Amino acid sequence: MLKNDQLEQWDRDNFFHPSTHLAEFARGNAPQRVITGGSGCHITDREGNRLLDAFAGLYCVNVGYGRPEIAEAIADQARELAYYHAYVGHGTEAAITLSKMILDRAPANMSKVYFGLGGSDANETNVKLIWYYNNVLDRPEKKKIISRWRGYHGSGLVTGSLTGLELFHKKFDLPLAQVIHTDAPYYYRRDDLSMSEADFTAHCAAELEALIEREGADTIAAFIGEPVLGTGGLVPPPAGYWEAIQKILKKHDILLIADEVVTGFGRLGTMFGSTHYGMEPDIITIAKGLTSAYAPLSGSIVSKDVWKVLEEGTDMLGPIGHGWTYSAHPIGAAAGVANLKLIDELKLVKNAGETGAYLNAAMADALGAHAHVGDIRGEGMLCALEFVKDRDTREFFDPSDKVGPRIAAALLEEGVIGRAMPQGDILGFAPPFCLTRDEADEVVAKTAKAVAAVL
Ligand code: PLP
Repeated sequence: MLKNDQLEQWDRDNFFHPSTHLAEFARGNAPQRVITGGSGCHITDREGNRLLDAFAGLYCVNVGYGRPEIAEAIADQARELAYYHAYVGHGTEAAITLSKMILDRAPANMSKVYFGLGGSDANETNVKLIWYYNNVLDRPEKKKIISRWRGYHGSGLVTGSLTGLELFHKKFDLPLAQVIHTDAPYYYRRDDLSMSEADFTAHCAAELEALIEREGADTIAAFIGEPVLGTGGLVPPPAGYWEAIQKILKKHDILLIADEVVTGFGRLGTMFGSTHYGMEPDIITIAKGLTSAYAPLSGSIVSKDVWKVLEEGTDMLGPIGHGWTYSAHPIGAAAGVANLKLIDELKLVKNAGETGAYLNAAMADALGAHAHVGDIRGEGMLCALEFVKDRDTREFFDPSDKVGPRIAAALLEEGVIGRAMPQGDILGFAPPFCLTRDEADEVVAKTAKAVAAVL
């Protein structure tokens, strides 16, 4: 076993960490934690700390850590056939089986699944497929994609552009010109506090329609949205939002991409967020919960109507020129098959809904009246607290006070992992679906302690 300090030095010398303050890390002033194990909702680090991971990694270890069923499926697949590609009609039993299992669970109008590696590349695939689709339909001008401010869709070139968070654009020359943004459906942060929820929904719809009219519907290909805004602050939509948005999209012949990287496979207490909100997407993005992060795998599920045009396109143009070496990687696919079986066997979707509701209610009981907790919101196994200087005016704390990160750090001291969301003083929770009520109580009690320590 390496000595801890040597590993930490290697880490600083060699490892380029994503989404990290590089200079502070190099100086040894940023968090540095080496994770060594996991079981259920807990992880352990090299210092021997056992932490309750109430964010399931990056809201992805949905079935919890240390599941032997998935580990064995991965090992069996690696021994039997570690890799073969999926190009020109090739496949593996695992990938074909998984495609069937996904379609069995997806909304009825869905037709096929294209496999990738992670959520970002799946959304890149979606944009390319939609551009191809409009070219096949001889609508070469219909290419822009509408996304929402505070949406998160990845950090590639197009997907980083779709992401509506400043941090992911800053100094990267993003967003690209083909991407335009509309308002976030963030009722708590509406400009006019006297506005009712129904009026706010109508306002979001009107803003979208005005944007479409300004740009010209014949230049807009698709609208992308997470059923519940995730990284942008864990914000469920106001009542009637998706119905109102879809009406406008249909009127202007604009496709809907439901980015279900976080919500897919049960996080809202339903198999898909789309069904939870009555959305009828043309494409659904899946990743994280597809394998519970036991191996990298993502997918773009395309509807029957989109598929028909893609198929016609290949009759006109030949094979579709889009693929990754690791599309439908058999080890990821084997993990996916075992993961979806486990979700069914353990009724984890139901537990995500029930224990998630319990967690949200307990959080509201414990902290709902706190002078600096402006909002407690959630859906299924998602829960967020938004901290404000003043509850009545909803005034923000000065960002330099780092209230959100300080509360997350205090919570970590208590042995619980929550996530300081990247924009605003928002503490997020997205636990594994196997969270028990006792663990939910622990999260709430320790959050209350952490909040009291900082505010
Ligand atoms: N879409 C959503 C809704 C996400 O939350 C994420 C990641 O958090 C992505 C896409 C990007 O996925 P990945 O990080 O696997 O590329």
